[in-house]
Amino acid sequence: IRAGDRGALARGITLIESRARAHHHDADTLLQLLAPHAGGAMRVGITGAPGAGKSTFIDALGGQLCAAGRRVAVLSVDPSSPISHGSILGDKTRMENLSRQPGAFIRPSPSSGELGGVARRTRETIALCEAAGFEIVLVETVGVGQSEVLVHGMVDCFLVLLLAGAGDELQGIKKGVLELADILAVNKADGDNRARAEMAQREFARALHYLSVPAGAWQPPVLACSALTREGVAEVWQTVEAFFAQARQSGAFAARRRSQALAWLEALVSEGLREAFAAQHGVTPLRAHLESQVGAGLVPAPVAARRLLAAAGFGP
Ligand code: GDP
Repeated sequence: IRAGDRGALARGITLIESRARAHHHDADTLLQLLAPHAGGAMRVGITGAPGAGKSTFIDALGGQLCAAGRRVAVLSVDPSSPISHGSILGDKTRMENLSRQPGAFIRPSPSSGELGGVARRTRETIALCEAAGFEIVLVETVGVGQSEVLVHGMVDCFLVLLLAGAGDELQGIKKGVLELADILAVNKADGDNRARAEMAQREFARALHYLSVPAGAWQPPVLACSALTREGVAEVWQTVEAFFAQARQSGAFAARRRSQALAWLEALVSEGLREAFAAQHGVTPLRAHLESQVGAGLVPAPVAARRLLAAAGFGP
């Protein structure tokens, strides 16, 4: 992996994604060995509604970066069910151009599972890619729902791709996602759609103006591009570079990495507690009993929770 061998990297990721107990020890050892070599990449999240052009955009951007001699890893996060997983990805070939580049590494989402597990394995995969010398890690959200917040919590820069819609430009995208964005780009600014895209660009810029940004902080810009013709894609990347330069200089970069690491620690402790709780003998029957009591309104939830925690050894 340290030598940048993509086959070895892929096998390493498969090991850390494995849920088999027998693999846990080797996975931990691998992560520990590689940890000192992780952290060096520009981690960029890319989100947008299905059909916004994320994979086309990443194909174009990744191709340009590889042509400039950069090594790019592309990961995707899809915590949705196996059913929607299939229907969103379909059988279309994604990122055909980029997948042929020797400097690129593309890895689909770990097989769907609960949110916490997918987030954890993606974080570990980022570290492995960094140890393998990838300078840029693009993390794409594929599913809908919570994946934006999840990915925002593991990247240095969060890019949102938008589309010009009919009428209210804020429809079709959750307002909360706009607040997470460091950079926005209206995609498909080409052909007949170009004028509409540029109008949407102005409307989004106006809408963002109302989100208050502390003085001296980065003001998220709204750009326009076409992933299809590639016009404007290089400018989006220049803006990403400018964002990193400012964030490194202001200390925001280090502060964000630090708070992400602490949030991850917190999440792992919670997960460990949940597992330890579930592993306590005697909890399951008591839980089933209390659940029916709480459901029937016979026992208040806080009382039932205290009794359960005490039974598992977590209470007085
Ligand atoms: P994703 O679901 O966000 O990954 O979107 P895709 O990259 O699969 O793109 C959805 C559709 O939009 C595909 O048919 C693309 O060819 C098309 N598309 C993507 N980017 C552009 C663009 O910049 N201009 C135009 N005209 N079509 C685009």
